[in-house]
Amino acid sequence: MFNFNEKLEKIPKLGEKTSNYFAKKEIYTIDDLLCFLPISYNEYVAGEYKDKEKILFNGTITTKISSYRPRPNLTVTNFKVSDGINEFKVVVWNQPHLKFTIKQSDKIELFGVYDQSNSQITANKITIITDEANLSNQIIPVYSKIANISNIKLNKFILSAIEYVDCEDKIKDMLKGLHNPEQPDDILKSQEEFKKLELKEYLKKIEILKVQKEIADVKNSIAIDIVRINKFKDNLPFGLTNSQEEVIIKCLKHMQSEKLLQALVLGDVGSGKTIVSLVLSLGAILDGNQVAIMVPTDILARQFYEQIQFYLSELKSELLISSVAKLKKKRIKDNLQMGNIEIVVGTQALLEEDVEFKNLKFVVVDEQHRFGVMQRQTLINKGKNVNYIYLSATPIPRTIAHSLYGVIDVYEIKEKPLNRKEIITNIYNEKEKGKMLNIMEKELEKGNQAFIVTPLAYEIEDFNLADSYSTYERFSKYYEGKYNVGVINGQLKAKDKELIMKKFRNHEYDILVSTTVIEVGVDVKDATVMMILNGERFGIAQLHQLRGRVGRNNKQSFCLVQNNTTNEVSKKRLDLLSSSNNGFELAKEDYKLRQSGEVTGLRQSGAEDFILFNPSVDFYLLDNQNV
Ligand code: ADP
Ligand code: MG
Repeated sequence: MFNFNEKLEKIPKLGEKTSNYFAKKEIYTIDDLLCFLPISYNEYVAGEYKDKEKILFNGTITTKISSYRPRPNLTVTNFKVSDGINEFKVVVWNQPHLKFTIKQSDKIELFGVYDQSNSQITANKITIITDEANLSNQIIPVYSKIANISNIKLNKFILSAIEYVDCEDKIKDMLKGLHNPEQPDDILKSQEEFKKLELKEYLKKIEILKVQKEIADVKNSIAIDIVRINKFKDNLPFGLTNSQEEVIIKCLKHMQSEKLLQALVLGDVGSGKTIVSLVLSLGAILDGNQVAIMVPTDILARQFYEQIQFYLSELKSELLISSVAKLKKKRIKDNLQMGNIEIVVGTQALLEEDVEFKNLKFVVVDEQHRFGVMQRQTLINKGKNVNYIYLSATPIPRTIAHSLYGVIDVYEIKEKPLNRKEIITNIYNEKEKGKMLNIMEKELEKGNQAFIVTPLAYEIEDFNLADSYSTYERFSKYYEGKYNVGVINGQLKAKDKELIMKKFRNHEYDILVSTTVIEVGVDVKDATVMMILNGERFGIAQLHQLRGRVGRNNKQSFCLVQNNTTNEVSKKRLDLLSSSNNGFELAKEDYKLRQSGEVTGLRQSGAEDFILFNPSVDFYLLDNQNV
């Protein structure tokens, strides 16, 4: 983003070995490193000591340092500290050097866990304060895990990279605000700056495309066989909602006309966008054209493909994802090129250069925010005069959609299928875990299934956030012999992910512990519980997406969110979630809350084009862009 294209090894003390660790996370250049933003921030408030919580302490050592060895491989160091008001006992494990490095009357800063019952801090990091003005930060950025590089070390590398690069002060300040903030305001301000930069870069790309499109946009029409389309609709196991019907009619009309259909189809999670796209696909195919459907993950591709096999079994369809065997892939590509396949569903695998079509005329991009503008365009460019729709649950104002996605029309599916019950959403604090488990267990007893979502895949040292593996271990032990538990996260290979989802769908697991990899699109009919741990770590749009994974049939479903913070704004945000089941409404309210200055760390979505900018909540930045 900043064109700092130098290799990581330019950074002092960063050698080949470390740069290989970074490469595993696709961090190759200094630019990549600087754009590897924290997923959240841990705030330590000096002078505020909460029981059992991590604290930052600044004060003076008031006693001698005593060390002893209760066992050969264990050293315990004790002393007392005071912040001028209170005195606390300090215990440190296995840091024998302390006896020589600190002494009575030293001013120190320490991180540790506070135990109120005996006024004691169990410390793990102690530094002597030599320069009062240079106290280390009270806000610690938390990054997603990179194997073999600790959070602290990673942050150090990033900070030296910021020192190293040659750029305007404004950019440096922004980077410091993101990676080394002194106060919450710095984060907010810098995030805003970062988003503006991202938007600027993005709009440049869109401009280029617009010019190309004007050249390409010439006469085109598809003959729609309305009789057969109606017959197809009549044979569906459910009646389409009025909203679905309306959108279908508008799109078909457009496909028949001279102008290309270039539309965004907006519909909240569960509004039934898939079937709409299938009706339109059928329309294009009946006139002898090919259709390509692109979705962000293998799991979703398979799911989409199964629906095609179910609803449109008479069509020649194929699935093209990375896990398809080489030979079969080759055969699919040949058949696409020869026009022997009418409809193909795939992931990014569709974008490979050797995927060619004979007569591609209709493209569907599902969960379009997960793709970059260039990716969408690459697929569309594989045909001539291609009609396309993007499917999205991301609520976004019409005018913004036009400029952000380059679409001509925006169609909304406003209502959900009638037989849906409202999902019951409850927020629990840490002490109410029992209540939460009760509801889940009742559902499991009925033979229904549950998702448990954690913010992290793996544990990150020193931070109290739920991660998928520890949670999985805990629950599988707890329910051993009673319920089967599975675990899935983004780090797994595509093949493994698919297998796990398949097992879950087949009821081989009752509970699936997951990160947000299941965020979009997944359709498991018997899942009636969505339990979210550390709910405060997610954005509201994301929570709503997660909630949309349940309640996908006529059973009563539950979204159980654990709130592990006492932060007021977080609480408000989560309460909001429980008060509304409408994604559009939530986005509006969320926007207001954000304006009130709340820091959310976690990356909102895996949108290709953006790291921080989130179209559904940051669109206001578009109004004052001077590109
Ligand atoms: P989304 O808009 O989130 O992509 P889907 O297309 O996956 O939603 O649809 C959610 C579920 O609702 C699917 O199981 C689908 O079969 C079902 N569905 C879609 N339209 C209707 C309808 N009109 N009546 C009843 N069920 C429907
Ligand atoms: Mg969908």
